[in-house]
This record gives sequence, C-alpha cells and structure tokens, in this order.
Amino acid sequence: MKIHKYDTVIVGAGGAGMRAAIEATKRSRTAVLTKLYPTRSHTGAAQGGMAAALANVEEDNWEWHTFDTIKGGDYLVDQDAAEILAKEAIDAVLDLEKMGLPFGRTPEGQIDQRRFGGHSRNHGEAPVRRSCYSGDRTGHMILQTLYQNCIKEGVEFFNEFYVLDQLIVEEDGVRKSAGVVAYELATGEIHVFQAKAVIYASGGTGKFFKVTSNAHTLTGDGQAACYRRGLPLEDMEFFQFHPTGIWRMGILLTEGARGEGGILRNKDGERFMEKYAPVMKDLASRDVVSRSIYTEIREGRGCGPEGDHVYLDLTHLPPEQLDAKLPDITEFARTYLGIEPYTDPIPIQPTAHYAMGGIPTNVEGEVLSDNTTVVPGLYAAGEVACVSVHGANRLGTNSLLDINVFGRRAGIAAAEYSEKADFVELPENPAELVVSLVEQLRDSTGTERVADIRKELQETMDANVMVFRTEQTIKTAVEKIAELRERYKNVSVQDKGKRFNTDLLEAIELGNLLDLAEVMAVSALARKESRGGHYREDYPNRDDVNFMRHTMAYREVADDGKDSIRLDYKPVVQTRYQPMERKY
Ligand SMILES: Cc1cc2nc3c(=O)[nH]c(=O)nc-3n(C[C@H](O)[C@H](O)[C@H](O)COP(=O)(O)OP(=O)(O)OC[C@H]3O[C@@H](n4cnc5c(N)ncnc54)[C@H](O)[C@@H]3O)c2cc1C
Repeated sequence: MKIHKYDTVIVGAGGAGMRAAIEATKRSRTAVLTKLYPTRSHTGAAQGGMAAALANVEEDNWEWHTFDTIKGGDYLVDQDAAEILAKEAIDAVLDLEKMGLPFGRTPEGQIDQRRFGGHSRNHGEAPVRRSCYSGDRTGHMILQTLYQNCIKEGVEFFNEFYVLDQLIVEEDGVRKSAGVVAYELATGEIHVFQAKAVIYASGGTGKFFKVTSNAHTLTGDGQAACYRRGLPLEDMEFFQFHPTGIWRMGILLTEGARGEGGILRNKDGERFMEKYAPVMKDLASRDVVSRSIYTEIREGRGCGPEGDHVYLDLTHLPPEQLDAKLPDITEFARTYLGIEPYTDPIPIQPTAHYAMGGIPTNVEGEVLSDNTTVVPGLYAAGEVACVSVHGANRLGTNSLLDINVFGRRAGIAAAEYSEKADFVELPENPAELVVSLVEQLRDSTGTERVADIRKELQETMDANVMVFRTEQTIKTAVEKIAELRERYKNVSVQDKGKRFNTDLLEAIELGNLLDLAEVMAVSALARKESRGGHYREDYPNRDDVNFMRHTMAYREVADDGKDSIRLDYKPVVQTRYQPMERKY
C-alpha cells in the first residue's frame, strides 16, 4: 500500500473534473485520479451543445434561461442554483473560447447558436437558439480543450486509478473527509490519497439500464463510495430517457438533429409531436417527447414489423447542412443501421441517458450529509452531483454547462478550503475496506458470473423503471434487485491476477450498480406522483402538496450487518418562480 498526500484530490477527469482541476491547481497541490485516460471520459461523447443566453443570433437573456431550466425540471429545481447556472453560463462559454475551443461560427464570426428542447424565448413563446456547439462533437472539443489546459497548468494525473472508497473521519463530533482509496489497474496496487479536500467528478450511473447512450464505464462509483459511508443520495428516482437513441442499440442521435429542423414521425408519416406539444413540437422537453413516442407505439402507430420504434426524419434538410452541422450522427446512421439519412428516415427509440440525482451539494459544490450539514473537505460536481439544477428533468445542453459552471465553482471552493485547513488524520487502517473487497472477490469460489447478474439487472431496469412506471413494476424491480444483490455475494472472477485485472473491476462496478439501482427503485416507489422523468401511470399527476420536495436516501446498517434504505425529504429552494402546469 502506498500513501500519497495532496492538498486537493479530484476523482474523475471528465469535463467537471478537469474544469475543477484548472482552478484548483492554481491554488493548491492537486492530483486528478481517473479510471479512464482523461480524454476517454464520457464528456467526449457529448454531441449537441452547451447552453448560454449569449443572444448572438436571437434576442435572449439569462432570466429566460433560468425559467426554462426550472420549468424543464418540473419545478423540482433549486431556483437559486438555476439562476447561477444561467447567469454564469455566458462566462463559462467565453472562458472555453479563450482556452481555445473552436465553436461553430455565424457568418459574422460570432459563436453560433442552435435550438434545443425546452429552451424558449420569453417563457415559452417559441423555441430560441441558445446552444453553442462545435458540429455534433461539442463534448469532444470541450474535453480536448480542458485537457490541453490542464497540461498547460501542470495538473498531475493518475490515470487508470479506480477510487473505491471515501474516507470519512469524525473529529470533535464533525464528520470530515480525510481522503480516498484507489486501486491501480496496471499493478493491482492499493493507494491511499490523504487530502485536505476531495472533489467527486466521477460521472453518471446509466449502465444499470440495457438500452442506454452511456458508456460501459458509467457505473456510479462515486455515488456508491459516498453512499456506503453513510452520505445521502438525492433524487435518484429521476433518470432521463433521451427520445432519440438508435433503435435497439441506444446509441445517441443528438437533439441537435431536431434543433436543426429534424422531425419525429410515426408509421403513418404523421408529425405526432404537434398533438402533444403544439408550440414547441419536436423540441418539447425530453420527458414529454419520450412519453409521446411510447404513447404512439402503445397505440399501434409505431414503425416496423413489430411497431416498436418511430422515425427521426432529416430527409427534408439540405445535405450540406447535415454534413456541416451533424456529421457524426449521420455517419452513425450509415454505420450502425446501413441507412442513408439524406434520403431515408432513421429508426429511433428512447434511450436511458442522464442521472438527474446524485450526491447532494450546495452551490459551492460542498457535499451535504443531511439537508443542511456540510461535510468539511468534501465536494462534488457534474453528473455525479445533485445541486439541483436539473430537478426532475434536465434540459438538453444544460449538462455541459453544469460541468463547466459547477466544476469551476467546486475547484475554487475546494482549493480555498485546502489553503486554510489542516490534513485530517487518516483512520488506523485506511485501506481496510478496499483490501477486503478485492481479496474477497479474487479468492471467491462462488458460482455466479458478473455478466449474468449485470444482464438480468439491466433487463429488469428496462422492463420496470423506464419511461412508464407503476407500483407493480417498481415492486418487481425492487424484488429482483434484492435477489441479485443476494446472488452477487456468491460472485467470482476468473482472472485472479494483479495486472490489468478488468474482470475484478467489472465485478466491483456491478456491486455499485446494484446498490444504486436499489436506491433508485426504492425512491421511485415512494414518490406517488408524476413529475419530469418520473412518470407513474398509477399517479399520473404532479402532486405539489405532498411531493414538492427532494428525496434523500440513506443507507442504514443493522447490528447483524444487513443494510436497508431510509428515505427522508428536503424542501425545494424557490426564489421567484411559482409552480405552474407544464405545457409545451
Ligand atoms: C452520448 C452522450 C451525449 C451527450 N450530449 C450532451 C450534449 O450535447 N450536451 C449536454 O449538455 N450534455 C450532453 N450529455 C451529458 C453530458 O455529456 C454528461 O452529463 C457530462 O459530460 C458528464 O460530465 P462529468 O465530468 O460529470 O463526467 P464524465 O465525463 O462521465 O467523466 C467521469 C470521469 O470520472 C472518472 N471516474 C469514474 N469512476 C471513477 C472511479 N471509480 N475512480 C476514478 N475515476 C473515476 C472517469 O474516468 C471520467 O474521467 C451527453 C451524454 C452522453 C452519454
């Protein structure tokens, strides 16, 4: 076991982690730990754009953006945080531009902007062009730009280091962060990183679904590490299903395709979104569009022999526009489906996309251990965190924005804390939990296989807690997950070695997914209303009287070692927007 000492340690080198690192490294001795090579992080897969009310091409302002974000989140958004997001968006884009990001341009040379779902002029009058982009490779450009700037600032990276435990120590009755424990993929060695401040920026949890746009590596490791150490997870029942994944594969086709004028059609060629969202049509919020697609399918208007998908039609757009603005996704249609998008519509279905919930933080990125108490030295930003700016449903292009605005804020706050604070003394045997986890899996002679359990988990989640949910389906999921968690105790890995043992790490990641899936299902069962991405057919209306509040899920361990989930609730922060019925 090796022990390292840094002022600030950042877990994750996606957009949030690297944006934080650029700030933290200027002020404190900073290390970034990442399980992937930095430029392989999922931020690099983001396509469509990053929202900011620059008003370069149309009248716009940050107040309209704030309103759209709150309405998009079905009023579960903390409104103070949404104001910060929309206000700081403008500088966030300009900062990236100064760092060298090649944004798409208007003929006059300004940063160009395009339409995206739920972004509107004057509180819902009509769609507005608010999303800054780089073709359909915006995330790639952000990630490369941030990485280059990290190198320039001299950020220290520990690549292919998997953080598996969060150290929390009680000092004078206060629970504080002492550091993290990581597993080095290349050697199998265990490393303890003592740090004054730790920032989680480890991304989402989408891999507990089967049809998903998320990379194989999005297994919620950061959420799981904090949750196991007694910290709550907020609003985990809210997961976004993006309307346009490639049929059966889930690979994402950006909403920017509809922003450029693409249209959804059913088997009769009808532009069905006109029925469900007369003003915003195909650019209504994602939860609304995904439900509309499945309603068409359920009512027999789906396409293909099985009637299980609808079409994204780009055939009326000029080929030059597709080549210039949507080069990657048109190529995906050719590669994965053998379809020519110039002339043929593309079969699509909703795909599991984004975790609105996560580790609760305030607007400085400080992690909360209950509704109000901050854990000194612990921060989170990006998809792993819940600030909450996305509430019950995130608007497209607000996540690339979130990681830049709150990544920066967390980086500054953590480094300023490290400047003042002392190191917290490490617990006596800091690597204990990770050592036992690794040894147990390596030595296990169990008969269960990781791939089988993961497959069953993903199938259960797709069948029972996707776009439509009921008490019955969620209970089925809860029971199945409990069974899988039992079977997981008997899991074994084939590779018993130390070097590059990805078998072992996949087993650990599966354990994380199982814990988080359970939190999601239990949180969803208790929320007897429909709001944003959480749609209960047995409770089809939003219930502000009983459920205008954030879910806080805690892990509790009984004396016999059995764990269970305790749910509590936290009020939503409202500044100036009264909840209204949501219409697009
Ligand atoms: C296909 C796709 C397209 C998208 N398009 C858009 C878009 O156009 N606009 C938009 O706003 N949003 C988009 N999103 C959402 C957005 O890209 C993500 O929410 C955002 O990039 C997440 O950034 P992040 O920094 O929080 O996490 P990530 O970029 O996922 O980075 C996570 C980092 O954490 C590290 N990590 C994870 N676990 C561990 C561990 N145990 N130990 C050490 N390191 C760890 C990883 O190595 C990685 O570096 C898209 C998402 C997808 C999947």
